[in-house]
Amino acid sequence: MSLLKLDQIDVGFGNQVIVDDVSFSLDAGDIGCLLGPSGCGKTTLLRAIAGFEPVLRGSIELGQRLVSSPAQLVPPEKRGIGMVFQDFALFPHLTVAENISFGIRQQTSSEQRKRVNQLLEHVGLEGYGPRYPHQLSGGQQQRIALARALAPRPRLLLLDEPFSSLDAELRESLATEVRALLKKEEITALLVTHDQQEAFAMADKAGVMYHGRMLQWDTPYGLYHRPAHHLVADFIGHGVLLRGAVTHDQRVQTPLGLLHGDHVPNNSEGEAVDVLVRPDDIVIDDDSERRAKIVAKGFRGAHYLYTVALEDGSQLLCMAPSHHQYELGHEVGLKLNLDHLVLFPAGYCDT
Ligand code: ATP
Repeated sequence: MSLLKLDQIDVGFGNQVIVDDVSFSLDAGDIGCLLGPSGCGKTTLLRAIAGFEPVLRGSIELGQRLVSSPAQLVPPEKRGIGMVFQDFALFPHLTVAENISFGIRQQTSSEQRKRVNQLLEHVGLEGYGPRYPHQLSGGQQQRIALARALAPRPRLLLLDEPFSSLDAELRESLATEVRALLKKEEITALLVTHDQQEAFAMADKAGVMYHGRMLQWDTPYGLYHRPAHHLVADFIGHGVLLRGAVTHDQRVQTPLGLLHGDHVPNNSEGEAVDVLVRPDDIVIDDDSERRAKIVAKGFRGAHYLYTVALEDGSQLLCMAPSHHQYELGHEVGLKLNLDHLVLFPAGYCDT
């Protein structure tokens, strides 16, 4: 059952529409992520869900109750929503335990102590209650900010770039930990991030926004493998678009040869299309007759990401284990590992 439901909402400032016709829903207990380039409206959307911004059109329901519409705005403190922001915002003059219990001050002191100890254990910081925020590392402070937001057991937790001030390694491990914690606490959460690795580590559902619009709301797998828009394909993962023409038997003639997949495209014969080719769709196989030249390479730890050029000059990306090294200019064979075709109308990517 959906806990959060947005139906065709617009949010704006003055006469400028910042969030444009956005609809999606999040099931109870699920973790959602909003992805998209800087300025696309992610924070504004989160603030509208929290009740800090009114909607100009459409509606927001929380637990089947209307909380925002042009005629109604339930105030933030009446929504049962918890929030965690990028800058932690712990109270510096309060101890860790006092910070965590801030939102449950109305409970008895023994209830507060019990909840604080439970949360400290959940975030792996048992015994840190008497410390002050400045005695903690950035990652520890962010765990305490999370514990503080979780203490009143909010119906929905909103997280706005909560890990962005931490280094990349810590960010990834914290994202996995936070997912486990939210699942343990059975909290529904919506996270804003720039970082797709973080979104993939956390999310049951994720959406890509662009210029205020939600281009696709789907599972992370769906966003990567079935992008509904070329901008989603561009934003999520690596890949190139290869121009092709649809044949009478619904295959696609491209510079890589005749491509077909398990999903039959519904295009007319001769139609020009752009085919999404991901690095994992291509395998370097020297026995293959499909030849290409290495024109660039980037070290990715376990793999190299190679850019290869086909005879007609089209370029593709492919990955190979880093213990097999190919030099620039080297000719390789390419084998295809495309099990479904993702097609977009030709020319979208030229604009
Ligand atoms: P980032 O990833 O950089 O944080 P974002 O996707 O969260 O970006 P928003 O912060 O929602 O984007 O901002 C979207 C647009 O709305 C921006 O152009 C911003 O300048 C504008 N905006 C945000 N808040 C206000 C405001 N209070 N008044 C006027 N314009 C605003």
